[in-house]
Amino acid sequence: MPGSERVEEAVSAAVSHALPHTEGAVADYIPTLAEADPGVLGVALAEVGGEVHERGDSRLEFSIQSISKAFVYALVCQELGHRAVHDRVGVNNTGLPFNSVMALELNDGHPMNPMVNAGALVTTSLVPGATPARQWDRIRRCLGAFCGRELEVYEETYRAESRTNGRNRAIAQLLASYGRLDGDAEAVVDVYTRQCSLAVTTRDLAVMGATLADGGVNPVTGQQVVPASVCRDTLAVLASTGLYERSGEWLFEIGLPGKSGVSGGILTVSPGKAGIAAFSPRLDAAGNSVRAQRVTAHLSRSLGLDVFASTAATTTEDHTHDQS
Ligand code: GLN
Repeated sequence: MPGSERVEEAVSAAVSHALPHTEGAVADYIPTLAEADPGVLGVALAEVGGEVHERGDSRLEFSIQSISKAFVYALVCQELGHRAVHDRVGVNNTGLPFNSVMALELNDGHPMNPMVNAGALVTTSLVPGATPARQWDRIRRCLGAFCGRELEVYEETYRAESRTNGRNRAIAQLLASYGRLDGDAEAVVDVYTRQCSLAVTTRDLAVMGATLADGGVNPVTGQQVVPASVCRDTLAVLASTGLYERSGEWLFEIGLPGKSGVSGGILTVSPGKAGIAAFSPRLDAAGNSVRAQRVTAHLSRSLGLDVFASTAATTTEDHTHDQS
């Protein structure tokens, strides 16, 4: 990572670069999300050394939505291991929207990956716990450890989504009909809806991302939340599926694993370096925040974080030397 001052400058520049972008629309299929102020923009970058750089509305709370999927996946990977999760949930992109029923039908009821709703429902059903209440408690505590503080549910969002989540309930029933869901389908959807309604800030997301970047150690609290191998698996999945059917474009532009949520957050991880979070509610057609994408692209480029970028290790003179 470049020095602190350069990171500060880059974060400020990323905000100025993203602010003029007012295209896109706030999600309205969950009633409380439609009330979000479209003008807000929060940015936070948490380094693995524990330093956090913040700008704009970085302390404003919003529901975590799909970004929770990454962390519940990490929890289940820790409990069940690499192979079992791979077999039950999968790691391949569906190429279809996050709430697609078609994706299930085309794949013999296999959810394909944990970052779309079908795969996330299966992942949530796999969380250890004798009852849905115990599973929920486990999820809330785990996500809290990732961000270093106790998290609470946005009750209003939870209730609004519970009233309007017919599509997720249909997906859960379909998974159950294929024999691919453990437990009661309605109860699984309820726990999933709660996990999506957890209130977080942009700063929280950056610290959660920094924990994934730091071999599972939260750089602010020092707690080992999950093993390093679980972070590695989670980031590999995010790279291929974190932005749904736009994951290829995301990787091409930004070169880092990321995860978006329909409330307007995007979390990006630079392995070994930092967690980057941006929040602004206007979304593109795939449900990804327009400004958060702009902020992240700017930071990835200006801080040299793209994992696919390289420069020649040796000059022509060095080559001569290498061959000796
Ligand atoms: N809770 C939302 C849903 O299930 C999450 C979707 C998202 O953030 N993309 O539809």
